[in-house]
Amino acid sequence: CGIIGCAGRQGETLDVLVHGLSKLEYRGYDSAGVALATDDIDVCKTAGEIDDLRDALSERELSGTVGIGHTRWSTHGPPTDENAHPHRDCLGEVAVVHNGIIENYQSLRDQLSTAGHEFRSDTDTEVVPHLIEDELADGAAPEEAVREAIAHLEGSYAVAAVIAGEDTIFAARNDSPLVLGIDDDAYYLASDVPAFRDHTDRVIYMDDGEFAAIDADGWTVTTLAGEPVDKDVDTVDWDP
Ligand code: GLU
Repeated sequence: CGIIGCAGRQGETLDVLVHGLSKLEYRGYDSAGVALATDDIDVCKTAGEIDDLRDALSERELSGTVGIGHTRWSTHGPPTDENAHPHRDCLGEVAVVHNGIIENYQSLRDQLSTAGHEFRSDTDTEVVPHLIEDELADGAAPEEAVREAIAHLEGSYAVAAVIAGEDTIFAARNDSPLVLGIDDDAYYLASDVPAFRDHTDRVIYMDDGEFAAIDADGWTVTTLAGEPVDKDVDTVDWDP
């Protein structure tokens, strides 16, 4: 299973995402999908292999300057198109990919359902876009909304989110790998370096409890609560 995100590659975003997912195939997966953000969120996802995703994409026109992609190794819900990531909120303005297991998803899902949220999948992951939607509806700014939503989660996660009208990708990790890729005018995030090694050899390894934001202009890493943390940019010493 794996995550890829890319900001700053303009017309190439979709290709970078699909290529990145193919480089993460070695981790194992049963479904794959991508989301691109502009004023809207476009999602394409399918059970099966990356080639099945490519087939589905060949019938669609997806555009966006930032995007996230996912290969799923099912833990909650069978490998169906609906259960494939990215998952969205009710309005379709938030898309989220996740690796790991959200241990308290059932109680979160019950609360959200009681509050009127309708769920489309069997996954633990789908609570996350709905939590973000609630924070946005309460007036939180996008970055704050994602931080607040993630603060509700217990369990293991590498999670990445995009929001309609925002050119930033937000991400966080706990007990699941996540690494940033730094280029001169493009930024990446992934479960593992091979996903973006063809584009850059500069990386920042995130630690548990950290939160990242990347856009076409740069990156930030803080604690989930927003306190600054010192991060080193490492150079990987192997060729793609
Ligand atoms: N628990 C999530 C699901 O079943 C994510 C699985 C994964 O790590 O790919 O959809």
